[in-house]
Amino acid sequence: MTLQSITEKIAKAETAANRPAGSVSLIAVSKVQPNARVQAVLEEGHRIFGENKVQEAAGKWPDFRVQYDNIELHLIGPLQTNKARQAMELADSIHTLDRPKLANTLARLAQEIGRCPDLFIQVNTGEEAQKAGVMPAEADSFIAECAALDLPVRGLMCIPPVDEEASLHFALLAKIAARNGLDGLSMGMSSDFEKAIALGATHVRVGSAIFGERTPA
Ligand SMILES: *Cc1c(COP(=O)(O)O)cnc(C)c1O
Repeated sequence: MTLQSITEKIAKAETAANRPAGSVSLIAVSKVQPNARVQAVLEEGHRIFGENKVQEAAGKWPDFRVQYDNIELHLIGPLQTNKARQAMELADSIHTLDRPKLANTLARLAQEIGRCPDLFIQVNTGEEAQKAGVMPAEADSFIAECAALDLPVRGLMCIPPVDEEASLHFALLAKIAARNGLDGLSMGMSSDFEKAIALGATHVRVGSAIFGERTPA
């Protein structure tokens, strides 16, 4: 598939869900992709990208930012506290705020740096042991804790279990966001972004459907 076919599908899904055109941001997930492929998507005019590793993002996006204006970079992978400062300096948005220690570190660094990227709290909707994110039952209190730290939390993010119906997880995430007064929903990937849009996604994270399969690093 191509960027254009994905943007067309997003537009159709917005219409089908009675949502305004342009209400969904497409985050083109460029992790592990060769720079030439990323550049091709930049040349097509796309400006919103996602990376899951701070190191990898640091290796390519400062250069792309010199070449192209208005890039919006989203970090969507697990974040270690010792990489938090670098992440905050690189990214416009961090989707993986998932624990009190990281919240405290981001709050302290935001004071020091004088700015903070938009944040999404990751919720482990499938309660999977190997996956990051706060448990659904702890989400409300963690959201309140982040608000008390004055962190700019824009919404919630989830990665549904591979072997379960994604819609159930998207609906759960939407419900938790709504009862906490959060508008942002980062959910939906190559295989299920249309379902996510039907359930209110504001940010879909699409990699392989735009760039092709990732060749293992
Ligand atoms: C890699 C990744 C994606 C994109 O996955 P695709 O299936 O290639 O669309 C989305 N979200 C996260 C958190 C990822 O790590």
